[in-house]
Amino acid sequence: MPELPEVETVRRGLAPVMEGAVIARAAVNRPDLRWPFPPDMAARLTGARVDRLRRRSKYILADLSTGESLLIHLGMSGRMLVSGDPLGLFVHDHPAPEKHDHVVFDMDNGARVTFNDPRRFGAMDLLPTDSAEGHPLLASLGPEPLGNQFSESHLVEALKGRNMPMKSALLDQKIVAGLGNIYVCEALFRCGIHPARKAGRVSARRVAALVPVIRAVLTDAIAAGGSSLRDFRQADGELGYFQHSFDVYGREGAPCRTPGCSQEIRRLVQSGRSSFYCPACQR
Ligand SMILES: [Zn+2]
Repeated sequence: MPELPEVETVRRGLAPVMEGAVIARAAVNRPDLRWPFPPDMAARLTGARVDRLRRRSKYILADLSTGESLLIHLGMSGRMLVSGDPLGLFVHDHPAPEKHDHVVFDMDNGARVTFNDPRRFGAMDLLPTDSAEGHPLLASLGPEPLGNQFSESHLVEALKGRNMPMKSALLDQKIVAGLGNIYVCEALFRCGIHPARKAGRVSARRVAALVPVIRAVLTDAIAAGGSSLRDFRQADGELGYFQHSFDVYGREGAPCRTPGCSQEIRRLVQSGRSSFYCPACQR
């Protein structure tokens, strides 16, 4: 499942071919993904210029010249493919249409952007740009982890007195938006905080130390995604999924990477999801 760094990598890959370009043709090949598409979606997109491509949490928002914004969510398995790019960033021609190509945008610069999603947990919607933040999917989101509002004081205040485990607190999208399982595990490891420790029982000093660490974990992953973009362009034009090495995520039974630590990484299931941690380094 794409997490925030993957979505940001997709946004950065799409921006050069979509920003400033007009959607010359939009093909919507089925009535729905996770939810029905908005009425007349293809007609409302055709002829619209993409003024800006931005990201909020794990959603991509294309602000259009029509006053509407296209909201895109990749869901569990959604992929964006770019082909036929005249700018030379993507070197391959349009591929043959595939079964799960649900939405296709032909841009007036010759680029084609294809949204392919076999499991159809993805979503697209159209909303007025002016009130985008009030959309049901966006309205209750907390601050962006890479934005200024995600501060030490915000996190300390948000976790004060909370009885939930640290892992759950950081996955709570009202506390911080867009953090998922992988990067919460990595941030807690870097800070030496056990995923099951009650949030309200962690000192303010240790909670505050999480803020720069969360930023660093995400920034490192976005950098890895950025360096992968060229490879994806040269391979098949698919954006956003990249190999990245983790300190604890997916490493159950492997040796802890902290110098001098002889423990193995353990796995713990919390709310049905795996947490990976070092029992010696994380308290
Ligand atoms: Zn360790």
